[in-house]
Amino acid sequence: MIVAVLSDIHANLPALDAVLASLGTVDAVWHLGDVVGYGAEPDGVVERLRDIGAVGVKGNHDDAACGGPSIAEFNPTARIAAEWTRAHMSPDTREYLTALPPTLAPVPDFTLAHGSPRDPIFEYVLDAAIARENLGAFQTPYCLIGHTHYPVAFRERHSGRAARFSMETLDPGGEAIRLDQRRTLVNPGSVGQPRDGNPAASYAILDTDALTVAWRRVAYDVGTARRRIVDAGLPRQLGRRLEFGE
Ligand code: ZN
Repeated sequence: MIVAVLSDIHANLPALDAVLASLGTVDAVWHLGDVVGYGAEPDGVVERLRDIGAVGVKGNHDDAACGGPSIAEFNPTARIAAEWTRAHMSPDTREYLTALPPTLAPVPDFTLAHGSPRDPIFEYVLDAAIARENLGAFQTPYCLIGHTHYPVAFRERHSGRAARFSMETLDPGGEAIRLDQRRTLVNPGSVGQPRDGNPAASYAILDTDALTVAWRRVAYDVGTARRRIVDAGLPRQLGRRLEFGE
């Protein structure tokens, strides 16, 4: 099965549409949460995900938009955006976001979580040490995570009984990585608000039979996304940062 893995769309419809247009034929779309927040089109993004039958999990911004406790952790700009989203999204969007589970295993080998498997809404898996601490928190060989907006993978250095004493960091280059018996956490990067200095939307293509993951980048109309943020009355820096991928 060929799966498009999308995370941190953040209500950025121009970015999502560019990604969907670039996919070619896929069998499924999985998302890793933060469907909304920051961007101006929560309803449009959720409608698109419903239309294509995407399955996924809840992020901290989805939780905040639905009135959950995540908003207490937000900086002032994120809080303004969460309050804007709460006030402007439709009842259908709220219902969709509220129903998202914290983790999901759509097929037997893969767990999806927004932050980390042990703390799905909040924890950032920023490095191999944190990834290693999370190995006990999921039962599948592989876990797909988002939340940091950085495309990366963390993989055990060894497999079998010697496992779990160290992990390595794999940066996405041009090559796909092959998943093997070593347990691996993969972050596809962010569709709607990349933070690795590259403004192009980031996502991954997973082949669950060949066990390969390839990261992809797609340029999109950042100017339109930025204008919609300004027109919506959201903080201007949320549009500006899209231009720089920060
Ligand atoms: Zn996010």
